[in-house]
Amino acid sequence: MSKRVHNFCAGPCTLPLSVLEEARDEFVDYHGEGMSLIEMSHRAKAYDEVHQEAMRLALEVYGAPQDFGVMFIQGGATLQFAMVPMNLLSAGTTAGYVNSGSWGQGAIADAKPHAEIYTAWDGAEHNYTRMPRPGEIRVEPNTRYLHVTSNETIGGIRMVDWPDAGVPLVADMSSDYMSRAIPWEKFDLIYGGAQKNLGPAGMAIVFMRKSIVDGLNKNLARYLRYDVHLDKDSLFNTPPVFAVYMVGKVLKWMKAKGGLAVIEREAADKAAILYDVIDGSGGYYSSPVDEACRSHMNVVFRLPSEDLEKKFLAEADRADLVNLKGHRSVGGCRASIYNALPADSVRVLADFMGEFQRANG
Ligand SMILES: *Cc1c(COP(=O)(O)O)cnc(C)c1O
Repeated sequence: MSKRVHNFCAGPCTLPLSVLEEARDEFVDYHGEGMSLIEMSHRAKAYDEVHQEAMRLALEVYGAPQDFGVMFIQGGATLQFAMVPMNLLSAGTTAGYVNSGSWGQGAIADAKPHAEIYTAWDGAEHNYTRMPRPGEIRVEPNTRYLHVTSNETIGGIRMVDWPDAGVPLVADMSSDYMSRAIPWEKFDLIYGGAQKNLGPAGMAIVFMRKSIVDGLNKNLARYLRYDVHLDKDSLFNTPPVFAVYMVGKVLKWMKAKGGLAVIEREAADKAAILYDVIDGSGGYYSSPVDEACRSHMNVVFRLPSEDLEKKFLAEADRADLVNLKGHRSVGGCRASIYNALPADSVRVLADFMGEFQRANG
């Protein structure tokens, strides 16, 4: 078998080995068609089955109610930063944004050219170490939606309780997508790049409440319109066929595992293994974030000095524990432990952390 390392990359990320192997086996000759799936027409029957099944499974695995539709749109989560305000806001309406860290700021930066939006809660005042607490969010009149980031991938914090803002929520869920059950009634729209929890890079998955279609802005280039993607079943133009195909396989893998409930429990268990090591290290390893908001996907930690962090990362790398460096904007270490990362990889890292402390403490 080919070599597989313990890959803690923040994105793109580890995918289930069984999914990669299946894709490899089907790659050159897809189901006896005599060509690869990525060589055939996106209107071909074989692809259409893949496409429709991926959409069906996305709704099913996430437990989306009847009122929601799903769309596959290129441009990643980043394009959604712009599409959300372009589609949802109109003259006389505004939107509140929770600035919870780097990605919350990204959403704010790309909304500003399109509308007069405002910061409804500012995590800068708390050094981005936590999410808003009940009652802290300030919602202004004529607010169409409150934008939140469910999990800040770089800061390592997650929204445990969804705000009761009195307006619909729009959420960037990129880095904890489909890792826990969500209260659908609170949301009008949910989006995320596929490459953190669900597949390769190349598309965003967008869930939208269908009843909001009438109120959407139609005065946009067609590719930028949610109503067009929804109406065309995400086949308005050539879709990112390989990404759709892989996401479909990952969703099937998730369903076979037992679905969201099992994934959610595994995520909590995997995260606890690492936070236990950090908390039990007598301060050798430290978590810079509020305990109540610790991410179950991106475990951020520091060592006593930057020199030790460098040594830690180099030795981890030699032990095939890779991509543990924190984001360049914050430094330190970060273990991203998305849905498909085996618990065994997390245990290997936990043991390594213990040994490193004993040798360098
Ligand atoms: C990675 C990430 C993004 C950016 O996603 P792209 O698909 O690369 O555009 C946005 N938001 C969050 C929370 C992320 O983790």
